[in-house]
Order: sequence, then structure tokens, then C-alpha cells
Amino acid sequence: MFDALADRLESAWKKLRGQDRISESNIQEALQEVRRALLEADVNLQVVKDFVAQVKTKAQGAEVIAGVRPDQQFIKIVHDELVTVMGESNVPLAEAKTKPTVILMAGLQGTGKTTATAKLALHLRKENRSALLVATDVYRPAAIDQLVTLGQQIEVPVFELGKDADPVEIARQGVEKAKAEGFDTVIIDTAGRLQIDQDMMAELARIKQTVQPDETLLVVDAMTGQEAATLTRTFHEQIGVTGAILTKMDGDTRGGAALSVRQVSGQPIKFIGVGEKVDALQPFYPDRMASRILGMGDVLTLVEKAQEAIDFTDAEKMQEKILSAKFDFTDFLKQMRLMKNMGSFGGLLKMLPGMPKISDQQLREAEVKLKQTEAMINSMTPQERREPELLASSPSRRKRIAQGSGYRETEVSKLVADFQKMRSLMQQMGQGGIPGMGMPGMG
Ligand code: GDP
Repeated sequence: MFDALADRLESAWKKLRGQDRISESNIQEALQEVRRALLEADVNLQVVKDFVAQVKTKAQGAEVIAGVRPDQQFIKIVHDELVTVMGESNVPLAEAKTKPTVILMAGLQGTGKTTATAKLALHLRKENRSALLVATDVYRPAAIDQLVTLGQQIEVPVFELGKDADPVEIARQGVEKAKAEGFDTVIIDTAGRLQIDQDMMAELARIKQTVQPDETLLVVDAMTGQEAATLTRTFHEQIGVTGAILTKMDGDTRGGAALSVRQVSGQPIKFIGVGEKVDALQPFYPDRMASRILGMGDVLTLVEKAQEAIDFTDAEKMQEKILSAKFDFTDFLKQMRLMKNMGSFGGLLKMLPGMPKISDQQLREAEVKLKQTEAMINSMTPQERREPELLASSPSRRKRIAQGSGYRETEVSKLVADFQKMRSLMQQMGQGGIPGMGMPGMG
């Protein structure tokens, strides 16, 4: 899902990588890439225009955050805007005060409406809410059979009156039955046509008028891209819907539907269908979807945590120390703890965009190394931490630390040597700059 969109957006971040801050000039190209990516994903043009304009405004007004690169910051801005476009938060299913809650399902044929009806019943059952399904698609006898079969599969009763009854009457009786038998919810499956026609709309309007649903959900197929969004708008204008279920999100959908529905129709996506099986239904969460669209682990968490975790004055002091060679083992330990605050080491590395692909094996090794380093530093006296030279010149001190931390003497020696090397590199960086530096315990 969304692979192409994610790849495309990746080029947008690349335009900002290596820059030291977001500026009017360097943002143009990145915005162009975002625009292209969204259009290729079949997002509605007006939605794309508004989106890019918003991102531009926010990026230009963004403050520099210590420890966060401009491309990472830009990703976060794009993410937040994606969330906004998709409606901020999950809009839960309505629940009627007097039972049963009535849900009307609408949609064109083949979108997955009947499947979604059963999926929804199963979803409700998991929340201990009983459902009665009602089959009103008398135009395709197979549709009634299909719902009955699905009902048996999930052990949810299906109410039907065959193919000769009036759909409005079936719906009315279905709701009556649910009320009489104390069902929590009644879900009415309606006829789907190959395209919208007047008869279909008129019948749907009559059913709606009769059963007064708490929810009218339009089932739309994600594979149809922005078409799904305009369809939702049309149904909303003509019938009045309360939300959409976006199906077939497991396929290689380009994302246009997920991003356009809310903006184009004003109605929220409430659920997504992610497979043919009856349990393949998920509530729709804009923020989770945005992270999936960006397809790059969780840079956002990184940026958020950096915003939270790093005390600015602290970070500045640290930088001063690093560049002036006053950086000692205590500072190093502090840095490591900060990294731990931000999540596990492996998780942190995976969050960084543009990180070379690191295998889980390598990550585990690095994490073990880091723990080992921490254990050794913990075995140092405060003075040794402040003055690493003491360790460089004294084998007996190194031996004591090795014993205390449970590691070998050679490992302690290596840490001390690496640390000194790093510190001297840092010093040179402070004076002129050397690109790339190693951190002890990480190589
Ligand atoms: P209806 O005509 O709108 O009632 O559509 P159906 O419920 O009969 O579904 C049409 C086809 O789409 C069936 O083959 C379903 O298995 C399939 N389908 C429905 N929802 C999904 C979904 O979320 N993912 C995938 N991959 N297939 C789905």
C-alpha cells in the first residue's frame, strides 16, 4: 500500500537533505516533488493545491529545532498536513441512545459493500455489540445469498424476505425485528448498481426516510482513486451520508482516495477494508494512515521526542563541550541516556530517513555494544569519567573497570582509545570541520 507515493515523497526529502535549514529557495523543489507525488497518487487537484500551499506556509514559518535536520522537519510538516487533510482523528461509529443503532450501507456494485456489511457486524461483535443484518438487494438474488452465507460464517443472523419483496419494506421489518429482539445494531445492506442511477438513489432515499438511520455509510473502492471521493460527495449531496468505508486498501492503491474523500465530500472515512476475509476491517485513523503513507518508519516520533526530550540550554552546553574537547565520559553517558529516552537504539536508527538499510542483526549488535559501553562507564570513578587520560595511562585502572563491568580488559582499552580518538576528531571539527565521525561503542 502506498509504496509509489512513499517513494515519490522520498525525493522531496532528498532535496532538503544536507541543507542546514529550511529556506524559501530550497523548499521550492521539495514542494514540487510533494505536488508531483500527490498528483501521481491520484489525489484530487484542489486537495493537492491546498495541501502544498499549507505545507509551504508551515515550512517557511518553522523554527529550527536542535538535533533535527531540515528534511526531517519537513517530513513532520508534511505528515501533520496529511493528518489534517484526512480529518485529524478517528470518527467513531455512531451509537443510538435507544437501541438498535441503525446503519445503512450504500455503494456501487463490486465495491465490497456486502463484504463490508459482514465485516462491520463482526467488528461490532468483538465489541460485544450484537448485530442483525438485513438483505435488501432484491435485484441480484446472488447478493442475498452472499449476505446469508457471510452471516453464517460469522454467526450473525441475516433477515431477508426473498427477491420479490419491496426493499423499503424489508428494511422496515428488519429494524422492527431488531428492536423487538433486542439487537444492539441493525445493518442494512442495499442494492448496488454499476453506476449511479435515479432509481437507485430514489430507493435509497426512501429506505433512509423509513428507517431513519444513525449512520449512512458509503462503501467506496480505494482502487478508484479520487473517483471514490467524488462519489462520496455525490451520495452525500443526494442522500446525505455520515461517512465512508474505503475498501481494498490492501491492494496497490495509490492513495488518492484516502487523501481526497474527506476534503472533497466533507465526510470522514470511518473504516478501511484491508482484505477479502471478514476480519479485514480496521477503524480509520488519520495519523496512522499518514505514517503509513510516508512509509519511513517513524521520523515523526523522532522529531516529536527530540522536541520534548532535549532541553535547549542543555543541548547548547553539550555542543560547546563537544567542540571544546571538554566532552568527557559523563557527557557521553548523558548523551547515551538521552538516546535511550528517545526509544531503543535500533528503533531510533530505523526512524532516520536516509539511513542505510541496517539489518536487525547489525542493530542488535550495536545495541549490545552500547549496553556494554554503558556498563564500563558505570564502573569508572567520577574522576576517571572526567579525565579519560587517567585510564589511557593506567592498566590497573582499566583492569579494575573490566572486573567491575564484567568485560575484558581489551574491551575497556578499546573504549578508551576510541573515545580519545573521537574527542580529538570533535576538536578538529570545532576548529575546522571533519565530515563524519565515529562514536565509541557503535562501531
Ligand atoms: P458488493 O457488490 O459491493 O457487495 O461487493 P462484494 O462485497 O461482493 O465484494 C466484491 C469483491 O471485492 C469480492 O470479491 C470481495 O471479496 C472483494 N473485496 C471486498 N472488500 C475487499 C477488501 O477490502 N480487499 C480486497 N482485496 N478485496 C475486497
